[in-house]
Amino acid sequence: MSPDKPDFRSPATVGALLTIDLNAIVENWRSVAATAGVTASAVVKANGYGLGAVPVSRALAAAGCRRFFVAHLDEGVLLREALPGVEIAILNGLLPDMEAVYHAHDLAPVLNDPGQVQRWLSFCASKGETLPAFLQIDTGMNRLGMTAGEWGALALDPAVAAFPWTALISHLSCADVPDHPLNATQLRLFHAASAMAPHLATSLSASSGSFLGPDFAFDFVRPGAALYGVNPHPGFPNPLRNPVLLDARILQIREIDGGSPVGYGATHKTSDRAKIATIALGYADGFLRSGSGHGNVMVGGFAAPIVGRISMDLITIDVTQVPVDVLEKAGWVNVIGDFRTLDEVATDAGSISYEILTSLGERFHRVYLGEQA
Ligand SMILES: *Cc1c(COP(=O)(O)O)cnc(C)c1O
Repeated sequence: MSPDKPDFRSPATVGALLTIDLNAIVENWRSVAATAGVTASAVVKANGYGLGAVPVSRALAAAGCRRFFVAHLDEGVLLREALPGVEIAILNGLLPDMEAVYHAHDLAPVLNDPGQVQRWLSFCASKGETLPAFLQIDTGMNRLGMTAGEWGALALDPAVAAFPWTALISHLSCADVPDHPLNATQLRLFHAASAMAPHLATSLSASSGSFLGPDFAFDFVRPGAALYGVNPHPGFPNPLRNPVLLDARILQIREIDGGSPVGYGATHKTSDRAKIATIALGYADGFLRSGSGHGNVMVGGFAAPIVGRISMDLITIDVTQVPVDVLEKAGWVNVIGDFRTLDEVATDAGSISYEILTSLGERFHRVYLGEQA
């Protein structure tokens, strides 16, 4: 590294370090499959929930995962370049006039309406091939997928009935609440949909559904969030490992008199003389402003509360209780980790872990542990 041109986003230049443990993600994938008792695919949409679709998928493929889901066609094209030889499916469906692009990159659309089904059948007929595609049925979420009526009519079409669809899938809307009555309703409707084409493979559950017991497992499950350590059933103990560490640099430490205001809006006033450290992380890095004044960061093993408003690039923490020698040596503080989990950070900001993960910023130096050579 030369002083006039340092490495972009090296540990020396950044404000925050994001460490992602691929071994923990692989372990979570195995444990979801073991819990469900069936094969697990992996959902790596939104750049692997912010953690990097390519390194995450490579690690999972090396561990034996053969089926990956992304949301967008573009995400599939990028993933395919990095990962030949696995199945990649596009949850958001078959975009208009894009059949040949899916085919060229060996991407399987998840067909969400009868028009998409007919277009895929026509495209396959024109190629003289049966190309992989999934069928999605809406069983009560009213978001994506065919209605029961549309599927009932389609399933009677001999061309549809004869086609070797990869699988029939649906998605649960309340699986994170184990005793929610909609789980049983959707289960019943999915069985009814599956009965119209009993030879097709089936999949109903994402992360939370994978922990609802064998009735919800079907032929394979589709975890996303659970791979990244998000608790499938908030309020119950988290069975998964945390793969994410976020550390932020201390930029400055100041001593202030009792009664001095801290940060925008002067929302925080210390009662006594206090020591405030300012760290290089903010809402532009996905550390939501709604988390202002909530929770602690860890400074060399000591908890220090977040005080005042979270700014775009800065957060102030009260380090009065951190011993001086510890503070002098620290340099960095841990913001997300085993002591303060992603789920806690999310709850404190009035959000969910999914949103925190997918908002994690582009300004970090990223370190992948357990990366394949
Ligand atoms: C996002 C998504 C998943 C994964 O959901 P998680 O809750 O992150 O496990 C699975 N299936 C479908 C259809 C999805 O849209």
